[in-house]
Parts: sequence; C-alpha cells; structure tokens
Amino acid sequence: KQQLQVLEKAVKNYPDFPKEGIIFRDIFGIMQDVHALQALRDLLVEHVALMDIDCVVGLDSRGFLLGPLLSVELAKPFIPIRKKGKLPGKIFSENYVKEYGEDTFEIQASGIKGKKKALLVDDLLATGGSMSAAELLLSKVGVNVVECLVVMELKSLNGRSKIKAPVHSLLKYD
Ligand code: 5GP
Repeated sequence: KQQLQVLEKAVKNYPDFPKEGIIFRDIFGIMQDVHALQALRDLLVEHVALMDIDCVVGLDSRGFLLGPLLSVELAKPFIPIRKKGKLPGKIFSENYVKEYGEDTFEIQASGIKGKKKALLVDDLLATGGSMSAAELLLSKVGVNVVECLVVMELKSLNGRSKIKAPVHSLLKYD
C-alpha cells in the first residue's frame, strides 16, 4: 500500500536512543511531514471504521496524539491512561514493567464509568509491557479491550504474546 510506504519513510530511526543498543522509532517524524500525517490519519480511520466500541483509550503519552483523532471519527469518548500521579479525582491503578524500567498506570473512574468495550491505542508496541498493563487495568475495572492498535510494532520483542486482545499494527519492524 502506497500510504504505508509514505509512513515508513517518514518515521525517523535514532540508533542508541535513549540508550545504547536501542533503535528509537520516532513517530514525530510522521507528524513533521503533513502528507505522512494525512496518510496516518487515513489508515487509522479506515481501520477503525464501524468498530464496535464505546470508548477509545490512549496510553501516556504518544497514545494521546492518536486517540482523540479516532474518538472524533467514531463519536466515542477518549480516555487517557497516564503515569502515576498525573490524573485528578478518583483513579484506578496498575503497576507494570516496560522496556526502560518500572512504572504505574492510572485511569480516571469518571472516564470509564459505564464503559464496556475499548479500543486501546499507542504509537509503538515493543515488549508489550505497557499494553498488557493497560489491558489488565481495564479488565480489572470491567472494560474489555476489543483491539490494541499501534502505528509501529517491534516484532522481535514479541509483545503480542503478552496481550489477550487482537493487536493491529501499521508498520512492522524485525
Ligand atoms: P513496551 O511497553 O511495549 O515495551 O514499550 C512501548 C512503550 O514504550 C510505548 O508507550 C512507546 O511509546 C514506548 N517506546 C518504546 N520504544 C519506543 C520506540 O522505539 N519509539 C517510540 N516512539 N516509542 C517507544
């Protein structure tokens, strides 16, 4: 697909960031290129069209760039999952291990009230630690993840195996 090639070209790859041995795939390369950004929007919107969900949940922080876009398209609320201590009001939380260390995810009770089916969105799937923690957090509060949607997937880290819901990625890297 030509749009996927446009996307792939726009992602910037940074060797040894944030530490040696890691190639960082930067989604902001796509955002800097308006044609790539339009292609990204079109591909995501096409993919989620008619998806049966009642909310879009985005992961801190680059999931926040994609989630609201899909929320508007699907006319469903956007709910953020944030790192510890950022969200006000009543929250639910879950600890997790990620590629660069440990952390805690939180979600607002007010956001998920009455929600049953979520589309979970982030920029990139690496070890799957973040996505699986988000999935666990949501399942604990009674929300089923219909799909995990990412722009990029690092296949060799096999993040998919940690996640119960189907995973869809636009760009796959070995
Ligand atoms: P995981 O929890 O799957 O190991 O890591 C995924 C999380 O770390 C995502 O929230 C993602 O934003 C971030 N991340 C890890 N590696 C990269 C990378 O190479 N590029 C980008 N853009 N994000 C990364």
